[in-house]
Amino acid sequence: MTELTCPKCQGSMRRYERSGIDVDQCSDCRGIFLDRGELERLVDAENAWAGRNQQAPDNPQPQRNPDPDYERRY
Ligand SMILES: [Zn+2]
Repeated sequence: MTELTCPKCQGSMRRYERSGIDVDQCSDCRGIFLDRGELERLVDAENAWAGRNQQAPDNPQPQRNPDPDYERRY
């Protein structure tokens, strides 16, 4: 495996796992970098996590869809 260096500061990257996805973080500037596709998987994993923890988010004030005709008529 090749040692990863930070694209920003050329510091050494540390790899750790988050939500089952490998995340590379620079130990110098704390920048976090993901391999191609990992961000997508991370987002999916977090969405799944959020979906499990807040089911059926209720919308007390649903966004009103402005009717385009409304402004024309009134
Ligand atoms: Zn860095």
